[in-house]
Amino acid sequence: MAELEGLEFGKSDFVLLDEVTMEQFMENLKLRFEKGRIYTYIGEVVVSVNPYRQMDIYGKDNIEAYRGRELYENPPHLYAVSDAAYKAMKRRAKDTCIVISGESGAGKTEASKYIMQYIAAITNPSQRAEVESVKNVLLKSNCVLEAFGNAKTNRNDNSSRFGKYMDINFNFNGDPTGGHINNYLLEKSRVVQQQGGERNFHSFYQPICHGEANLFCFAFLFYLFAFQTSNNDRSSHKAVLSALEVIGFSKEEINSVYQILATILLLGNMQFESDGESVNIVGQEVVNHISELTATEPDSVNKSLLYRTVDACFGRDAFAKVCLQHTVRCFPYHIFTVALYERLFGWIVSRINSIIEVKDYDPVLHGKNTVIGVLDIYGFEIFDNNSFEQFCINYCNEKLQQLFIELILRQEQDEYQREGITWQHIEYFNNQIIVDLVEQAHKGIISILDEACLTVGKVTDTVCLDSMDTKLAQHPHYTSRKLSPTDKSMDFQKHFRIRHYAGDVTYSVEGFLDKNKDLLFQDFKRLMYNSANPVLKEMWPDGHLSITEVTKRPLTAATLFKNSIVALVDKLACKEPYYVRCIKPNEMKSPVLFDDARCQHQVAYLGLLENVRVRRAGFAYRQLYARFLQRYKMTCEYTWPNHLMASDREAVEAIVIQHGFQDDVAYGQTKLFVRTPRSLFTLEQERNNLI
Ligand code: ADP
Ligand code: MG
Repeated sequence: MAELEGLEFGKSDFVLLDEVTMEQFMENLKLRFEKGRIYTYIGEVVVSVNPYRQMDIYGKDNIEAYRGRELYENPPHLYAVSDAAYKAMKRRAKDTCIVISGESGAGKTEASKYIMQYIAAITNPSQRAEVESVKNVLLKSNCVLEAFGNAKTNRNDNSSRFGKYMDINFNFNGDPTGGHINNYLLEKSRVVQQQGGERNFHSFYQPICHGEANLFCFAFLFYLFAFQTSNNDRSSHKAVLSALEVIGFSKEEINSVYQILATILLLGNMQFESDGESVNIVGQEVVNHISELTATEPDSVNKSLLYRTVDACFGRDAFAKVCLQHTVRCFPYHIFTVALYERLFGWIVSRINSIIEVKDYDPVLHGKNTVIGVLDIYGFEIFDNNSFEQFCINYCNEKLQQLFIELILRQEQDEYQREGITWQHIEYFNNQIIVDLVEQAHKGIISILDEACLTVGKVTDTVCLDSMDTKLAQHPHYTSRKLSPTDKSMDFQKHFRIRHYAGDVTYSVEGFLDKNKDLLFQDFKRLMYNSANPVLKEMWPDGHLSITEVTKRPLTAATLFKNSIVALVDKLACKEPYYVRCIKPNEMKSPVLFDDARCQHQVAYLGLLENVRVRRAGFAYRQLYARFLQRYKMTCEYTWPNHLMASDREAVEAIVIQHGFQDDVAYGQTKLFVRTPRSLFTLEQERNNLI
């Protein structure tokens, strides 16, 4: 429980609500938002509401105020949980993690940056050069990853289009020695297609604005559908270039990165033409330019682009017809473009990893190497049109919610057990059933998708939907038009709906199979592998495989994603977790608007009320005897200024009895447990009267 700030700011911890009702919860959340108190606790969980304005709470003074302090000593803040995670890591040699969740635009990425900055600020007091350099690289990596992985969307001007989990390693001094970044499911389709009003990844606009004429002077940039650049892009480009250098990318590497970006833009501009018989690429200059940028043979570029694209797309004749009508931007070569970007992004991450990886760490010499992980991953998404990407993202959120439930309950249970106090069970919605719907072997949606992808012959998205309808007809969280024929909001051929923990989402199966197969022709891979540019070649190691090796079935996109999320959850589950639950107050990016309905919806699906209930199940508050004494000994004649009893526990008992709430507490091995917050109020008031 946080220090009571004065009730005009509302309650700084939701466990202190008089009653745990949605009404009271919302009232408190709104009051605090309006008073500029954007953080509130549920025990050790931070609930954060995006202020949409610069807050004066992140400066040096604040860092000093939170450094080394306990949660309840200061108003709720990200810094307090960061410090708690850091202390647990340093004092108890525990691996910890900070999991940040919430929907797009709720403030996750900003939070993760403040957390990193805090950790950077409180470590390495002796300013050792090698530690400073590690810290610098860790911080700078954000800038680079944001340039390549973020984009302006309708919800968020700087929306992360990938999930990020970053481990920071510490030596026994508690100083950072390195780190590791895992990235998850980049929304790569954005490279070739954006919704109205949205942009491609920032990385494409930055160099254009910066006037990298030699690379980016194209007449018409197709992939930058919404061609909007800003002064921001210009200054960001400088920052990104300098970050790349500081991190340790070589000149050649940086050049290659921008050459690949230029290649992608050129591919976006490519047009095909046909005289009715044969198909050609319009303008040989484009091909020459691409071959120059990628250090490949023009002839190979021509062949792999033209033949693969045309053959696979429609067959020659059909393609020729379409070509006559309009520019064709067809499928295989889009996949190639998209893959170029995906590999580039993956390569940047692994390059950063190779630089920040902890080297020469000897546990005997240096003590245990501990870790703080920070997870900033896409939140639950419901769009007008939900496709394969939303399906994956929402599945990921189901998994994280499951982990949240498990860890929060487990922690409580562990604590009660440790302290020898009886545990009371609390009802909550367990979303395991939805997790199973998606991932269960043989029966789950991913399995059904994979099966359809493996089937030879013409299996369409609709056939796959049929198969899901048959196999999942009985599942309480699955439905479709066929299964609920009266629901006209769904289409027979297209839609299925999952009842997620956060709400119902209707998915369109269109493109599911192709996206799941993620088929990239070996010709393209080979083209890149044969590049004379070693950086490019390095991104396409599979380009050397022979056709027979290639025909082995690769894992599908959904299965790869599932495996990566399962691995992530395993990684998080063995760490001591700290949670930041972010809430988006309104859709207008307004600093003053608190949209009650939207906020309440988020509070509901994030399970925050249950969280408060679990936290209060039995006991809303617990404190080490010595700490409790320190704070309240002045309120009791037997303990002020010092007690003469045999133990701190007995002294605490004296305080409790003096204030008459002996029926409201339990005594654990090391801690006092208080059932209702009211008792604490009495004590706090008493204390306030005395000081
Ligand atoms: P998410 O990662 O959850 O999608 P972001 O962290 O990118 O959301 O936040 C979206 C925008 O909201 C930011 O670009 C910033 O303008 C604003 N914002 C978020 N958190 C804060 C904060 N703590 N202080 C000020 N502005 C914030
Ligand atoms: Mg983000």
